[in-house]
Amino acid sequence: MFDLILVADWSAAAKPTGPTPRKDAIWVCADLNGAQTTTYFPTRAKALAHIDGWLGQGHRTLLGFDFAFGYPAGFAQALTGGDSALDVWDWLSARVEDGPDNGNNRYDVAQDINSLFPGVGPFWGRPATLDLPDLPPTDRARADHGLPGRRAVEDVVPGAKPLWQLAYAGAVGSQSLVGLAALSKLRARWGEDLQVWPHQSGWQVPEARITLAEIYPSLWPVASAPIKDQGQVIATARALRRATPEWFTGPGAQPDAPRIAREEGWILGVQAAGDCYALPPGVHWTSVEDALATLREASPCRVGVEEVPLDQATGRILAAPVTAARSHPPAANAAVDGWAFAHGTLAPGPVPIAPGRAAAATTRAAPVPPGHALRIFTGAALPPGVDTVALQEDASATAEGLHLRALPKPGANTRPEAEDIATGDPILPEGRRLRPTDTALAIAAGLGRVSVRERLRVGVLSTGDEIIAPGAAGGGIHDVNRPMLLAMLDAWGLEAVDLGHVPDDASVLRATLDGSDVAAILTSGGASAGDEDHLSRLLTTEGSVQHWRIAIKPGRPLALGQWKGRQIFGLPGNPVAAFTCAALFARPALLQMAGAGWQVPPGRDVPAAFSKRKKPGRTEVLRARLRDGHAEVFASEGSGRVSGLSWAEGFVLLPDGAAEITPGTPVRYIPFQDLGLGTVG
Ligand code: AMP
Ligand code: MG
Repeated sequence: MFDLILVADWSAAAKPTGPTPRKDAIWVCADLNGAQTTTYFPTRAKALAHIDGWLGQGHRTLLGFDFAFGYPAGFAQALTGGDSALDVWDWLSARVEDGPDNGNNRYDVAQDINSLFPGVGPFWGRPATLDLPDLPPTDRARADHGLPGRRAVEDVVPGAKPLWQLAYAGAVGSQSLVGLAALSKLRARWGEDLQVWPHQSGWQVPEARITLAEIYPSLWPVASAPIKDQGQVIATARALRRATPEWFTGPGAQPDAPRIAREEGWILGVQAAGDCYALPPGVHWTSVEDALATLREASPCRVGVEEVPLDQATGRILAAPVTAARSHPPAANAAVDGWAFAHGTLAPGPVPIAPGRAAAATTRAAPVPPGHALRIFTGAALPPGVDTVALQEDASATAEGLHLRALPKPGANTRPEAEDIATGDPILPEGRRLRPTDTALAIAAGLGRVSVRERLRVGVLSTGDEIIAPGAAGGGIHDVNRPMLLAMLDAWGLEAVDLGHVPDDASVLRATLDGSDVAAILTSGGASAGDEDHLSRLLTTEGSVQHWRIAIKPGRPLALGQWKGRQIFGLPGNPVAAFTCAALFARPALLQMAGAGWQVPPGRDVPAAFSKRKKPGRTEVLRARLRDGHAEVFASEGSGRVSGLSWAEGFVLLPDGAAEITPGTPVRYIPFQDLGLGTVG
């Protein structure tokens, strides 16, 4: 859509950021028909001059800045008397002084604004040394200023910080104050050639040669680059290359859309779906079904075959179908204790008794002469010439012979040869994980050894500087995930390998990954894209990683990566989300890698014992259990509640549409048993 894409990562620094490229400074990526150049700037003035240079080349241009272009509802009107964000731009431009050396008066301007509003605020946050009584140092000191905390777009973009905060970690307010003053001047310089989306264009692609739009680099996984900010502008420019007119439709058709366009603005690339979810195109939320389909493709069997004796085979996965090596039973035999004879040969009266007896043995008794009966015991192979057994309770042996109270039917009380299994019958399929009963069947069918898959070795590591060993004293978070995940792997019959805990340090993480002798690794924590996440960063720069924002709650991003031949599942740090993602996504992929084929339990519909109004746009997984045939759910859906995991005996899975659930509504229940996580021994 654009020949030139300019992406600016802005900064409100009050001094030049120095000659050496660094983070938290201004970076601009210029992408001209796909060829990118990324430049660092120590001051805003230099960056703006550079941008003006590009704009002067006459290309059809998209120019993006990563700060909010508008403020929450009511601010523009109260401050300027006009109702557009552009009125605020001009108001700020007339008051913000921003020198060529970055020196600026933003805190004074914020205090002036605050003094125009009732109560205390809306702006807050300043260096303690500044004497500005109308600019409160803390959020809590604010009161009664009458303005909302957020813009509409900030409700759909997770992690966006409110604009009123000017200082301290993560603050974005200062960038807008100095940035909007600069944009007002930029507009003045470029006149009709430039249109601001959506304030001037509404929810469509501006017609002017230059489109100016708000962007948010955290929507996209950081590209590999020595400095994060640099990687972010590169990734954002790449993402914007894929823009379609749909990207400019903002919140879509809703009553408030014209006001949002005029007053608040929107982040380019964020689209609202349903009433709750932002779907940045190009990142888009992956549905559970799509995620599973991709995992299925991406996780072929990764292990070899070995032969093991059947007494060591339970729990292992069959590498080939098993067929019966001999029949079961191998010969016709007696089902009861009693008397054996050939039914058609008996004469009326007492039956002569043949000498000897037939008991369970590895050899067969001698033939029984026609008309004779032989004492026989359960399990004994029928001797030649015999086809029927009379129960011992129905017969009495006397000196004249055997008296039968009633003549049984021909063939009575015998088990025919191969009644259960015939030689060559298929008895167990490839991929079957052998249960004790399966081993029993294979042995009964004459097998001594079976071909099984080598065990898939799966490593587990925890990341995070805050993580401490279970039971350790002191501040920190006890490592819940690693023992839990190791035990889950064990329950699935995989060879769980403890790779320990790794601090947020790329070189330790690299060494741990390199040193692991495993086919796959489950990690927890540090897997998000865009924050200080070493796992993501390392995989991005030295391995490969794909971030999925799976439309599931709980879930957060799930990362799927590769590290030198090892498949990496980057699970969320939160134990509830880690458990859920491991059970629903890692399990089928790992089992397929282990040779067990693809298996996702379907669950079954049961009546709900709870009420819930579910929003559309994502699958929700609730911790649940069955009582009296009804699915109860844990009192809190908070994904920090480990207590709900232990309470639960299964999941209730609510598919991605909207739903109004009341007691009795059918819901899909998946017992942990079906996920291989029932009772474990
Ligand atoms: P992260 O994904 O690293 O941002 O972590 C999200 C949350 O999960 C944070 O509150 C972490 O402290 C917590 N967390 C991360 N790893 C673990 C773990 N192994 N056990 C328990 N909590 C964890
Ligand atoms: Mg962490």
